[in-house]
Amino acid sequence: NRPIVAVVGRPNVGKSTLFNKLAGKRISIVEDTPGVTRDRIFTEVEWLNKYFTLIDTGGIEPENDDIILTQMRNQAMLAMDMAHVIVFVVDGKGGITSADREVGLMLRKTNKPVILAVNKIDNINLEDNIYDFYELGLGQPHPISSANAMGLGDLLDEIVENF
Ligand code: GDP
Ligand code: MG
Repeated sequence: NRPIVAVVGRPNVGKSTLFNKLAGKRISIVEDTPGVTRDRIFTEVEWLNKYFTLIDTGGIEPENDDIILTQMRNQAMLAMDMAHVIVFVVDGKGGITSADREVGLMLRKTNKPVILAVNKIDNINLEDNIYDFYELGLGQPHPISSANAMGLGDLLDEIVENF
């Protein structure tokens, strides 16, 4: 009965990369088998002596826009139902899409804490890209680079503050 943290967002924003980085950080000793962590959907994360279960809601990412949207709606509903904290990942390089806006609207209606993570902010020059995401109405956008493991400490701080 650890708190559940769900990662939601449209395909290719970097949900699984983030999941694997957060998983690898703390459980690499027990999960060092190549290929194991990559395909897992649940992982246990420890940060500052607080433990939580992280869920990657991605799965198989379809090509078709309608199917993507349906899947995102279902993921968001599942996350709103079962998670204690929701991490909504968007693409700081690609910018806001209509799917982001729709899921953003859904997430605004939940009373669960939602953390807006703007991924792919790989260097300081890209940090201005986060401001567009204020329009989603989910509060302060947090710049991260899952690929370069930047901003993840601040993101984890933000997550565990909500337990
Ligand atoms: P998902 O579909 O949301 O799970 O996204 P993935 O984690 O599979 O990543 C989609 C693509 O984005 C892959 O090519 C990743 O290498 C790339 N990606 C993920 N995180 C970052 C990042 O922080 N910066 C950049 N530049 N690319 C990233
Ligand atoms: Mg994925």
